[in-house]
Amino acid sequence: MDIGTYMALCLGHPEHGYYMTRDPFGAGGDFTTAPEISQMFGEMIGVWCVDMWIKLGAPPEFVLLECGPGRGTLMADIMRATKHVPGFHNAAKIHLLEMSEALRNAQTRALERYTVSHIGALSKVKAGLPVILVGNEFLDALPVRQIEHKNGKWWERKIGISDTGGLEIGFSEAENLVLENVPGAILGAKEEGVFETSPYLNQFLKSVDNLLINQKGVALFVDYGHMRSALGDTLQAVRSHRFENVLENPGENDITAHVDFENIVRIAKEDGVAVHGPVTQREFLQRLGIEVRAEALMNGAKTSQNNSIRTGLNRLIDTEQMGSLFKVICLCSDSTLMPEGFNENL
Ligand code: SAH
Repeated sequence: MDIGTYMALCLGHPEHGYYMTRDPFGAGGDFTTAPEISQMFGEMIGVWCVDMWIKLGAPPEFVLLECGPGRGTLMADIMRATKHVPGFHNAAKIHLLEMSEALRNAQTRALERYTVSHIGALSKVKAGLPVILVGNEFLDALPVRQIEHKNGKWWERKIGISDTGGLEIGFSEAENLVLENVPGAILGAKEEGVFETSPYLNQFLKSVDNLLINQKGVALFVDYGHMRSALGDTLQAVRSHRFENVLENPGENDITAHVDFENIVRIAKEDGVAVHGPVTQREFLQRLGIEVRAEALMNGAKTSQNNSIRTGLNRLIDTEQMGSLFKVICLCSDSTLMPEGFNENL
C-alpha cells in the first residue's frame, strides 16, 4: 500500500480513523493548534477576513469557508472578533469542510449561534458567491506519497506486513503518475533521499484555484512546512504531545507531513491565481498587529491572565516556537487584491 493510502486510512477510515473517533485537540489531547493556544490567532484571522471582504467590495452575500475546522474554535473567534462590523455577519454564509462526524458535532456546538453548512467537498460550496477561505493545519493532514532516490533510481516507499506480522516499509519502482509531480530541479539533482508528493493535496489546491477563479475570492492557508521544495522525510505521528512510530498503532496517532509551500505557489501559477507569501506566521501575525492586541488584552486583565496572554503570544510568534516553522500563504482570484500581512511596506 502506498504511504498516502495508509495515511488516508489512518486518519479517515470511517470506523477506525484517527479524526473519525475522537476530539484530539488541547492539553488533554494529542496536540494543540494555534486557535487552541490563544483567542488572538482567530481574532487576527477575523480582521484579515473583514479586510478582504471590504477589498472584494463588501458583497452582501459571500461564502466564509473553513477547511478542517477541528473543534470550531478558529471560526468562533473569527465571528466573535467581527461582530461589530456592520453587514459582515449577515453577508457571511459559513461553510465548514469536514470529514469527521465527531468533529462536525463539536463544530456545530462551538458555532451554535450561527447558521453553518457542513460540506464534504469543495464542489458543494454555494455557487455564484465570492469566497473567503481559511485553513489552519488542514493541508498537513492531506495524504502524501513518498518516493526515494537511491542507487540511481526512484522508488516508491510502500507499507507491507513483515514476517512477524507488524508493518514495515518496502519499495516498488516509482510510477510515472507520481514522478510527474516532482519538480525538475529535484529529479535532475539525482541526490539520494526521500521526496514527498501529494496527488490529493495537488488536486485539492486545483479545486481551490478553480473555485476562486469561478466565484472570485481568496484563500488563506496556515501550516507548518518548508518554503522551498526539498528532499526530506517529514511524515510524523503524534500522540499525547509525543512523537510515535508512524507504523505503530494505526488510527491511534495523528499523522501529518510538512507542507511544501513552493508546490502551492507552482500550482497557483499554473492555474493563473495570484499568490502572496509564503511568509512566516510570526511576520504575518505581527503585521496584522497581534502585539498591539496582546497589549490591549493585558491592560484589561489580571496579572495571572497577563501571563497566559504573554505565553500564548510567544508560542504563536517566537521563532523557537511556532513563529518560523509555520508559514502563511494567500491565493487570490485577482492580482489587484492586496491581502494584509504579506507586504513589509503595509
Ligand atoms: N483547523 C483546526 C484543526 C486542524 S486538524 C485547528 O487548527 O485546530 C485537521 C482538521 O482537518 C480536522 O478537523 C480533520 O478532521 C480535518 N480533515 C483532515 N483531512 C480532511 C479531509 N480530507 N477532508 C475534510 N476534512 C479533513
